[in-house]
Parts: sequence; structure tokens; C-alpha cells
Amino acid sequence: MYKPENYTIEELAHPQIIKAIGEVNTWRRFDEDALFDLQTIRDKWFEIYGSGIYVNRLKLGIDSRGLRPPDDKDGGKYSTHKQGNTFDLDPVNGLHKQLYDFVIKFIKDGELIKLNTVEDFKYTKTWVHVGYMNTDERPLIIKP
Ligand SMILES: [Zn+2]
Repeated sequence: MYKPENYTIEELAHPQIIKAIGEVNTWRRFDEDALFDLQTIRDKWFEIYGSGIYVNRLKLGIDSRGLRPPDDKDGGKYSTHKQGNTFDLDPVNGLHKQLYDFVIKFIKDGELIKLNTVEDFKYTKTWVHVGYMNTDERPLIIKP
């Protein structure tokens, strides 16, 4: 089982899921390649800026930026956040637009295995939504 070095299960999955099925089974719900890409993005970002990337921040009540339960009240009913291949990234240094451009370049350059979709920055200025969809576009840019 692959677990990214810089993220705990609480940072990546909604607490309701962990409570219901336990940590190990929650890890199993993720797409391994998507987790690997998340760590790749984090590593390269850290190399350049010396700063990490948040997903969930439970202390602030932010718990739906990774894997969401089926009945989650945040986001769309059919959101890919429920498939274990989608994350909302929040750079610790606050450089959201730079992270957005960085992720797009990464996808364009073929540096990621799985993640190929981002949400238009216009609609998500305080996080960078990155996920997977069945598409040949690199990246596919979606709207909410
Ligand atoms: Zn999202």
C-alpha cells in the first residue's frame, strides 16, 4: 500500500469515512497513482519554495478537500472528490496562482501519472482543485 510521505490520512480523507471504515480501508479507497502524483507535486513545490501544501485542515474545520463521503454537503453530488483521485491544494505560503500555473505546467509536461484535470482558477482562488477524468486533454480545465 502506498502512502505519501508528507500526508496523514486525516489530511486526505473526511473524518466521517475514517470513523466508519478505519484508516487502512480509507487508504485503500484512494487511487494509488493519484496519491503518488500528490506527493510529486508537493516535493517539486517544496524544492522551489521551501514550503508545503495543505489539503484538509481539521483545526480550521476544513475536511472535504480530499476524499469525501457519498453524502458530503460540500461540492457537487457527483464530484470526483468521492473517487479518491481528487484533491484541493492549499499552498502554505499562500501562492495560489503560482501553484495553479505550476500544476498545469506539470500536467502539460507529462510529469504526472494520473492527475490531468484542474478547476478554472477563476472559481477557486483559495485552493487548486486537481483530479482525474477520462480525457485526452492535458490538462482538462473544468468549471464548477
Ligand atoms: Zn475540488
